[in-house]
Amino acid sequence: MPSAEGLYIHVPFCLNKCNYCAFYSVIPRPEMIEAYLENLKKELLEKKSFLKPEITIFIGGGNPTAPGSEFLTRLMKILSPVLSEHTISEFSIETNPETFDKKSAKILKHLPKLRINVGIQRFQNSELKTIGRNTCSEFNKLAFENVFSITENAGIDVILGIPGCKSIKNDLGECLMNYQFKHISAYFLSIEENTELHKMHLAGKFPDTDDIDASELFEISDLLKQNGFKHYEISNFCTTGRECRHNLQYWHGLDYVGIGPSAVSTINGVRFSNPPDIHEWLLSKNIIQEKIDRNISITEYIFLRLRLLCEGFSIKDFEKKFGSIPDEIFQAIQSEIAAGNLERNSDSFMLSKNGLTFANQVISRIIP
Ligand code: SF4
Repeated sequence: MPSAEGLYIHVPFCLNKCNYCAFYSVIPRPEMIEAYLENLKKELLEKKSFLKPEITIFIGGGNPTAPGSEFLTRLMKILSPVLSEHTISEFSIETNPETFDKKSAKILKHLPKLRINVGIQRFQNSELKTIGRNTCSEFNKLAFENVFSITENAGIDVILGIPGCKSIKNDLGECLMNYQFKHISAYFLSIEENTELHKMHLAGKFPDTDDIDASELFEISDLLKQNGFKHYEISNFCTTGRECRHNLQYWHGLDYVGIGPSAVSTINGVRFSNPPDIHEWLLSKNIIQEKIDRNISITEYIFLRLRLLCEGFSIKDFEKKFGSIPDEIFQAIQSEIAAGNLERNSDSFMLSKNGLTFANQVISRIIP
């Protein structure tokens, strides 16, 4: 029974490992690319019957443009049955600037409702170096030219909270004067285990990021609001009507199909998680299957809805899905309102500016 309105394709390839990155990725070698594409085609055939007639598509990674233009052409060929059999309401693809060239642009140009997100992370070469990005600001400009030559629906990702790096607000302001981006994602740097940055931190070569406050987020939030953006999700800003429709489906707890290593699917109350290892994925080994029971659904509802700063946690919607709000959750919400961390807006509760500063703590105190 088709229930999913989103198709996610995970491309696990990156040319280098950024020093903060804890995601699974591998270097794109020819034999690996071949095996990946073959298995992706197979997995899509197995799962495409779960897709509704109208869907969003999101190609993420890794870096989907890292393996080059021939790979991209073949990937689009694999997706062509989906493109011809479904109405596409949004087609998003992530890319890193150093790998988005004219050839990539030509291949993607004809896709319906194309939306491109460029993971630039920072604008200054010294700051890119600090977080171990193997690129430079010149590539940002080239990628922007190529992206805007094929779509006006483009966004960038930036990393906030890099110790000693304070230029993001000015750089972003200058960028917005030159390019009409519609979407900005901004995430705080965190030091994850098993990363180069963690090793550097343990060796005393990189300071703690725990002390970084949310001021940089408020600085860019003010700047973006002045430029017509709304802060619609904790880490995401967009101009009118340019929310990422695909990601909104995750935040709204809707079903979606994910294919590729480490991709997750949620179909009719069951979550299937592919292994974060291309070899295991090729052998269909270690796929985790989890029934999403009422408790998990409630936890996820609170966690995801409170991230949506304009929508928040809707009482009517919660009651429609789960019945009346359990006392312990209602009490916790009241305490957060009293502490100034949540605000009530008719039917909904949402994070206040103060609550946004400690969003994770506030949300975790409400989850039963
Ligand atoms: S490009 Fe993205 S996924 Fe790849 S190593 Fe860097 S941060 Fe990780």
